[in-house]
Amino acid sequence: MATIHDKFIYKCITCGKEYDAGQIMYLCPQCSRHNTTSKPPEGVLKTLYNYQEISKKKTSFSDLKNSGFIDLLPIESTDSLPYLRVGKTPLYTLNKLFGESLSFRLHLKDDSQNPTFSFKDRASALVSAFARERNQDIIVAASTGNAGSSLAGICAAQNQKAVIIVPESAPMAKLTQIIMYGAQIIPVKGTYDEAFDLSIRATEEFGWYNRNTAFNPLTIEGKKSVSFELIENLGFKVPDRIFVPVGDGVIISGVYKGLEELLDLKIIDKMPVVVAVQSKGSDNLVRNINHKTFRIVPGNTLADSISVDIPRNFYMTQQYIQKYGGETITVSDNEIIEASVILSKSTGIFAEPAAAASFAGLLSFHQEGKIAGNTDNVVLLTGSGLKDLKSLNGILSIPESVTPSIDNLKKLFS
Ligand SMILES: [Zn+2]
Repeated sequence: MATIHDKFIYKCITCGKEYDAGQIMYLCPQCSRHNTTSKPPEGVLKTLYNYQEISKKKTSFSDLKNSGFIDLLPIESTDSLPYLRVGKTPLYTLNKLFGESLSFRLHLKDDSQNPTFSFKDRASALVSAFARERNQDIIVAASTGNAGSSLAGICAAQNQKAVIIVPESAPMAKLTQIIMYGAQIIPVKGTYDEAFDLSIRATEEFGWYNRNTAFNPLTIEGKKSVSFELIENLGFKVPDRIFVPVGDGVIISGVYKGLEELLDLKIIDKMPVVVAVQSKGSDNLVRNINHKTFRIVPGNTLADSISVDIPRNFYMTQQYIQKYGGETITVSDNEIIEASVILSKSTGIFAEPAAAASFAGLLSFHQEGKIAGNTDNVVLLTGSGLKDLKSLNGILSIPESVTPSIDNLKKLFS
């Protein structure tokens, strides 16, 4: 019988070398040797399965789904996953905004409805399950907030210990979550990149399993599940565009990986156009995508979850966007806040700024007349607005209190 060791392999996206799955692996040892802190890492690994074998065994999407997509996961059993409901989030289809008809169909994938209120749970759940099967009880992550609060929550459900290293500037709500879930939190005087490096040193020193995105190849494997859901939710019709908020490029690579597998398994027959949306204040991935040399401009945006100086999954994202004709756009902080307001008031979904960025991208495309009538456009909403209230301080005005009398109400509504 086939074992987990020959179920999948890792392939380096830089040199193409393949590694068997018998060992815990992060970056390609050869290509990562010369990585520096001034550009994205080389040697990120992609997890690949034997798609031909899978198509022989499971001939339809329902066959794959009925076994929890285990054939496309790097774990032995879905029993290793947490009991919390991760993924399976709603996709809402709207034909109107503010009562006005849209000429296209707008599909909102609301991933704020994950256990810790962000998309990151898809990755944490898989990383946690893998760690469980390998008897790794301590998982460490560097995080600006969402990945850390997600890992903390998932580990609480799985009876594992999470160690979260955060830059001290991370938003309060996310820090609160990490502490409430019982994780060991280590705020550091420094940037996300410094927190990242410390977590890797901790993995080398103490043997802790490391969840860092674009370091641990399995985060993408967790994130790809969103594409399986999307395609099924849309009745196996490939949408015209999918708008994805982008920071380090791991979520968008997860979206592409899921779609690519469906393409390989002939469940879909073409790739949708995936639109990478970045904040103008932190656009290191989009700005460098067509350039040979990588140039960093330090980030300054209120969308903290996608504020990234070194997009660690830059090269894989670049490969996907170039291979499948993806598009890119940047949106300003004002556009993000405006999109967040429109989204909340016209749909009832309150998304954090990083998530609202993808909706701002769609609105911008719409204003520029780039969205044809009768097309299907998906917006991926990756986190809840309650996670970052500070960014809305500038637009909130709470009315003064009044004495509770009907006369006062009459005055207010006169
Ligand atoms: Zn390599």
